[in-house]
Parts: sequence; structure tokens; C-alpha cells
Amino acid sequence: MAQVIADRRDIDFVLYEQFDVESLFDCDRYRDLNRKACDMVIDAARDFGLKEILPTYAAGDREGVHFADGKVTVPECFRRPHRLFVENEWIAMTEDPDLGGQGLPHVIAKAANEYFVGANFAFTAYATLGHGAGKMIELFGTPEQKALFLKKLYTGQWGGSMLLTEPEAGSDVGALTTSARPNPDGTYSITGNKIFITNGEQDLTENIIHPVLARIEGAPAGTRGISIFLVPKYWVEPDGRLGDFNDVVCTGVEEKMGLHGSPTCSLTLGGSGKCRGWLLGEPNQGMRIMFHMMNEARLDVGFQGFSHATAAYLYALDYARQRRQGRDLAAGKNAAAPSVPIIVHPDVRRMLMWMKAYVDGMRSFLYYVALAFDRRETAADADQAAYWEGLIDLLIPVVKSYCSDRGFEVCTQAMQVYGGYGYTREYPVEQLARDCKITSIYEGTNGIQAMDLLGRKLAMRQGGVFMDFLTEVRRTAAEAEAVAALGELCPAVQAAATDLEKAAVALARDAGGARLKTAFAHAGPFLDATGDLIMAWMLLWRAKAAAPRLEALCAKAADRSELIAGNRQAAFYDGQIKTARFFIRSLLPVTRGRIQAILNAEGAAVEIDEKGFGGL
Ligand SMILES: Cc1cc2nc3c(=O)[nH]c(=O)nc-3n(C[C@H](O)[C@H](O)[C@H](O)COP(=O)(O)OP(=O)(O)OC[C@H]3O[C@@H](n4cnc5c(N)ncnc54)[C@H](O)[C@@H]3O)c2cc1C
Repeated sequence: MAQVIADRRDIDFVLYEQFDVESLFDCDRYRDLNRKACDMVIDAARDFGLKEILPTYAAGDREGVHFADGKVTVPECFRRPHRLFVENEWIAMTEDPDLGGQGLPHVIAKAANEYFVGANFAFTAYATLGHGAGKMIELFGTPEQKALFLKKLYTGQWGGSMLLTEPEAGSDVGALTTSARPNPDGTYSITGNKIFITNGEQDLTENIIHPVLARIEGAPAGTRGISIFLVPKYWVEPDGRLGDFNDVVCTGVEEKMGLHGSPTCSLTLGGSGKCRGWLLGEPNQGMRIMFHMMNEARLDVGFQGFSHATAAYLYALDYARQRRQGRDLAAGKNAAAPSVPIIVHPDVRRMLMWMKAYVDGMRSFLYYVALAFDRRETAADADQAAYWEGLIDLLIPVVKSYCSDRGFEVCTQAMQVYGGYGYTREYPVEQLARDCKITSIYEGTNGIQAMDLLGRKLAMRQGGVFMDFLTEVRRTAAEAEAVAALGELCPAVQAAATDLEKAAVALARDAGGARLKTAFAHAGPFLDATGDLIMAWMLLWRAKAAAPRLEALCAKAADRSELIAGNRQAAFYDGQIKTARFFIRSLLPVTRGRIQAILNAEGAAVEIDEKGFGGL
């Protein structure tokens, strides 16, 4: 079995041939960077991911975490790679080197992260959650809080978590009941129960910093009255020394479908009245602070869905090249014809092409959004920064939901390519599917993301941000029209963009009137259609970048097909054009049908009486 979890040729293509990532190096912030340095980072990440993390994938799943007497023990095989991961400063790649980061652009960090997340997300999560907690402290903490926590979180000396969910407060975060009472010394006493907390307890790091959402006694109900607190597992003294256990007790660990190497904990805070925390930011600003972090966190969850998908696709591709079964269709009834690798069969090729289209499209989409973060942070003026900020806000619910849903579907399609072996533990794709599924549920379910897109994001600048997005799509399609090999694909993309615009207008109108519920019943399909259009856009953009390079390679070839068959670069570029063709001609028409269904505004799902659903 090939040990390939990400496609380095494709990563380089997206970074440097589709997107002009090198233009970032002209900005002051990245003036000391160049392509060679970035390539070295990605090479090192690939080596580390393949040699140190990937071998823990099945082993961590089989051993799982252990829970006894309130303590969680991580899989033994995680300890060495975690120590090396911390030593090599892989945790906070985009942060300031003085704080333990590497000062890299988001888009380069994403490329490196394909090798960590794709190798074993259960492992990687121990490190990345500390980064998220640190980022909130960097943005909203007091100088004292920064001095105490920041470097230790960014370097991985301490771990982090995120405590939002409670038994009665899942999607409805505003219903939480965890409370905070001010103490005379400026700290708060925290009391409450949290559930489903990733890495809420673990023994990899000497301390864990829990950002906790809670309500200060007397604060308003709902999200308006939520504050955020820094609650350590062990109290941190003003000089940085660790003090007493802070009464954050792990009462259980979920038995779940996947991510067995990552504990999903129930935590009781202040059960003995001794849990204290520091307020982060101002009182009642908890949701505002969380929202600031949400965009990056949700991009990361979409990225998790994708990283499982790219690994699953590459495993399935490798298997399809090795596994011999059946004869070439063209051999007819000739029983003496030799068996062929299953990649020869048209139906297997269809499955592989389907997977490739989504994996390629998602990689480009995710890198595009990561690059939008970089463009925003390096913008020459406030208008440019606002432009990128708008696109990020609009695209985040799409990138989170679409890549988590399609990522899971790619994993199950990979199982199909394997046949019976795909369903067994002998091969990694069943685990990839199990581990991937959660990405559509946590960090705001995909249903909630779709409501965010329709209810809040479409309305940004009275629809102006959505129109900016469509303008970007249309610009690529217009440019691609000049490329001979792509001309016929462009009108289809333009037409789909027009359809989506109509659907957006209709849904926004209905959502503001009597057909509110019918409109929101179509929020999920609308988000999916938006994602499909983005796939078509990205694949066309890739093909536009590939076509002239293919022409240059073929310029002197007597036989074009022969050249492509014998030249990896030519085959790669030709593959870009074929993938765009497949998606735009075979899948985009289905999307247009789905958009038509949205425009039909069928209300049966909301009109049916609850008893009409059947059941008991
Ligand atoms: C493995 C794992 C790890 C997790 N890690 C963390 C963590 O580290 N920190 C943390 O705080 N939480 C964590 N969670 C919790 C996770 O974020 C929640 O499970 C998720 O937000 C959904 O909440 P819920 O499970 O209560 O589902 P519910 O909110 O009950 O939702 C059930 C269904 O109803 C839908 N729904 C709910 N409300 C609405 C609405 N208003 N409109 C339309 N549809 C709606 C949802 O989309 C969903 O389909 C984790 C969960 C798991 C399983």
C-alpha cells in the first residue's frame, strides 16, 4: 500500500500555477520568505507526517484513549511524535516566531497541514486546539494573560480545548447554564457541566487551558449574556508556576464512531467549589470573541473533511492500479483475455474521476480561502481588507459544510473502489470515513451553517458581498473563454452562476416574508449549490492555468496522445482539463436541476403535519 496522503504535485500546482502565492512575498510582512523556503517547510511537513504521524493512524484508533479515575491516557504511540511535533514548532505555523510560531502565510501552513491532518487528525488535534486558545488570548487577553499563557500554548508546552457545549446547549449556545461568580481578587468562580469536549482531559501536556463560555451571575439570558473565561486544569501562579488542581473534573469519555485516539470528555467545573478562571476580554463579550475565532476554526474543520478525502482518494487510486479483477470490456467474450487492474473498468474510472474532481476542487477552494486570510492581513488599504473580509465571511459556512460533507462522501466512495476490502480494517479507508464524519457535526452543524449563509451572509452589504463572489466566478469564466480547449465549458459555468443568483434573490425575498420556513428548508440545498458552483469555478480556473502549459509541452509532438501517455507533466495538465470537463458537463447540470428545485420553493417538508412523518 502506497504511503501517500496528499498529492505534492497538485499542492505545488495550486500554490504557484493556479494562485500566484509568490506575490505574497512582495509584502512587507513576508519579505524574508521565498518559494524555496516555503517548499522546504512543506517537504519537512511531508517527511514528518509520513514518518512520524502516519504510523500512529491505525494504532491510535485500535488502542484508543483510556479513562480511569478522572484521568485520560492517550494512545502510547502518540507520545514520541507529539514530543517531536512540539520540538519542531509545527503548532502555530502562522504566528510570530518570537512567540513560538514560524511566521508563515496561512496558505503555506495549510499545504504543510495536509500532511499532519491527513496522517492522523486525532493526533494533530492535541496540538491545534492549544493554538486556537492561544489566538484568543493574543487578540483579547490582558498583557498579564499573554505573558502567562501565550508562548506555552503556541509552543505546545500546554494544551488547549474549547468548552461551549452543555447537555441542553448544543446548537443553541445561548441556552448554556454554566455560571461565573466574581471573587474579590478579580478571578471568577466557575460552576457547570460541559459535554463533548475534545481533549478536555489528556496526559500529553503538563497543563490544559480551557476557554469556557459561562454567564456571569445576573447577566442577560441568551447569547447577549455570555462571557468567556480562561480556566486552567492546574492553577497558574503569577510567576508562571503551576499551582493546585483547579477542580475541572473529567467524569466520562464518549464511545464514538471514529477519532478513537481523541478523547471527547464530559467535564464538571467547580463540583467541589474550587474552580476559578480569569475573564477574557469584557463581560458579556464571549460570543463576539468566539465569533472572531470561528472563521479560522471553521476553515480548519472544512480542511479536516478535505484532508481525509485526499488521503482516501490516493489510497483508492493506488488500490485500483494494483487490484486485478475482470477483463477489459473491449475484450468482449474472450475468456482467454488477461485480467486487468480495476482502474481499466469504466465504472471504476467514473468513481475515481468523481473523487478527483471534488478533491482537486476542494483543495483549490480551501487554499483560496486561506489565501483570502493572507490578502486581508497584507492588504494595502482598508477597502481591500474589507473586500477580502467580506469574501471570507461569506465563504466560511460554505467551506466548512461543503468540504466536510463532500469529504465524507469521497471517503465512502473510496470504500466502494476497494470493494469488500474497503469495508475491512485491513485498509485505511473505513477508518478515514469513520473519522471524517464528525466534521459535518461539530463546530456548528452543517444545518446551522446553511442557515448562517442564508440568514446572515447573503444579506451582507445588501447582497453586495454575494455579488462580489459571483463577479469573481464570472471573471474566471470570461478569461477561460479565450482558451480553445475550454471555450465550450464557460457558458455552462456562467449559466450556473446566473441560476444561483436567481435562487439567492428568491430565497432572500422568501426568508424575509411569509414563506420564511420554506426558504430555510432550502438553505442546505442552496449552500450545496453554492459549493458546486465553487467547484466548477475552481476546476475551470485550474484548467485555464494548465491549458497553455500543456500546449507548450505538446507543441512539437507528432502524436499528442502518445506524448501525454509518456510525459507525467503533460498527463497532469491534461488531467486538469479533463477533470474540469467531467465536473462541468457531468455534474454541474445536476446542480442546475437542484437550483431549479430551490426556485420551485416546494413547501411540503414544512407543511406536513408532524404526525404525517409516521413512526410511532
Ligand atoms: C466528537 C465530538 C467532538 C466535539 N468537540 C467539541 C468541543 O471541543 N467543544 C464543544 O464545545 N463542543 C464539541 N462538540 C459538540 C458539538 O459542537 C455539538 O455536538 C454540535 O454543536 C451540535 O450540538 P448537539 O449535539 O447538541 O445537537 P443539536 O443542537 O441537538 O442538533 C441536532 C440536529 O438539529 C439541528 N438543529 C438544531 N437546532 C437547529 C435550529 N435552530 N435550526 C435548524 N436546525 C437545528 C442540527 O443541525 C442537528 O442536525 C463535539 C461533538 C462531538 C461529537
